[in-house]
Amino acid sequence: MQPAMLIGGKWRRNSEHKLIDVLNKYDGTVINSVPEATDQDVDDAVAAADEAFSGDTLTPHQRYTILSRAAQLLHADGEGFARLLVHEVGKTIKEARAEVSSAVAAFINAAEEAKRIDGETVPVDANSGSEGRFAVVMHTPSGPVCAITPFNAPLNQAAHKVASAIAAGNTIVFKPSEQTPLTAYRLAEIMQEARLPAGFCNLIYGHGQTVGERLLHDRRFARFTFTGSVAIGRHILATVGVRPVTLELGSTAPTIVFPDADLKLAAIACRASGFAIAGQVCTSVQRLYVHEDVLEKFTEIFVSLVAQMTLGDPMDETIDVGPMLTDAAAERAEVVLKEAVDAGAIVLTGGSRSGRLFVPTVVTNVRKELSLLCREIFAPIVSIIPFRDTDSVIREANDSDFGLQAGVFTRDLSTAFYVARRLRFGGVMINDASRYRAPNQPYGGVKDSGIGREGPKYAIREMTDFKTVVFNLG
Ligand code: NAD
Repeated sequence: MQPAMLIGGKWRRNSEHKLIDVLNKYDGTVINSVPEATDQDVDDAVAAADEAFSGDTLTPHQRYTILSRAAQLLHADGEGFARLLVHEVGKTIKEARAEVSSAVAAFINAAEEAKRIDGETVPVDANSGSEGRFAVVMHTPSGPVCAITPFNAPLNQAAHKVASAIAAGNTIVFKPSEQTPLTAYRLAEIMQEARLPAGFCNLIYGHGQTVGERLLHDRRFARFTFTGSVAIGRHILATVGVRPVTLELGSTAPTIVFPDADLKLAAIACRASGFAIAGQVCTSVQRLYVHEDVLEKFTEIFVSLVAQMTLGDPMDETIDVGPMLTDAAAERAEVVLKEAVDAGAIVLTGGSRSGRLFVPTVVTNVRKELSLLCREIFAPIVSIIPFRDTDSVIREANDSDFGLQAGVFTRDLSTAFYVARRLRFGGVMINDASRYRAPNQPYGGVKDSGIGREGPKYAIREMTDFKTVVFNLG
């Protein structure tokens, strides 16, 4: 496979292009390379998206057919995609298969939603002076969309952005992370095979400071949709000016275990949620609040489950945790852990690393002002924090710049409702940890966790405009 850019329906890669090497995140070998877009490539990609948008629009039925075909093609090569994800991200083969399933579901949901974009009528003649008039509000496609994605779930993030943009009737220019661009290339191939007309989906590669930056300054885009870090999210907001943005950013996700919870269920879910993709998930359990009455019992079950996790080659079916993205990322996590330990934190399991392989770690007695609790850690480290009463744990969970998703374990419906209503998060998962996400739910955060929602139905709403058409019928 020799990845190329897709611009106006044509593949582009030539000997003049600088190449970006893509590494196998487990063994560090170069597995492939992608061409870095030049300024001309970026401009051509945006021009292609703009021209395609100005031409014949796709009918909802055409969008449905193309996206359904893409879902089938993606499903048919599911194992190929999963293996590519293992190589370029370092996630385990089990995690990679789950990501492919989510991406297929995103395409299916988007295909279905393409047929449901409706509108409404407004009785403008309810106002004196507007007699004889009648208004229709249509949700019309916004225009070319710019999509930029991070490294950790490159297929699922691409699926949500590309499928929703096409379902809404838009065109798209898509720049994946320079660390993980290979599944994006395969996805663009699939969009071609699904017979998406030229110019509707354009794919370019490159670094954020060059290619990403040029995209942000292009006034032909109607909307920007970004998933990634808070720092870049802020920069995008400050740069694009008067253009709508969807920002899916970071978190320090809390999960709360009440004394009446099914402790085994909670421990299993928190393990899956805290250590998937080596903790490099925006909704990974980072702050685990456990009621004092069950602290000892829960900690024993949880720590024993975490200590059993296997760490190593992500392609091995028996491995639970693969490598972190880079040695530097693992080093950063080690520094943050050491800072907490120096200040009195106790490591209950893990705490060491070998290169990028970071042993799943559980700590307690962490001071709340330390980075381990108040900054996004993005590493396989979970902190257990005891609590006594419901209102104080709600206050502590909310005491964060972030608000993406939270988890709550309780068998009591009143507690569940009470807590869900008061937590300032985009999603609250009852009897699930913070990472649970269904492909069709509205997904996104409040505060520094972002702006807007994904999930095809909601993303389509954001990627279309209200257009009011008033008929003067005389
Ligand atoms: P990152 O912000 O470093 O990079 C994300 C993307 O932004 C990349 O494609 C990068 O090239 C691009 N970029 C960088 N500088 C840019 C610039 N100046 N202009 C335009 N584009 C630029 O993020 P990452 O390290 O790849 O991913 C980890 C982050 O993503 C974490 O903070 C995590 O919480 C977040 N994330 C959020 C969600 C969510 O749904 N909320 C999901 C996954 C990851």
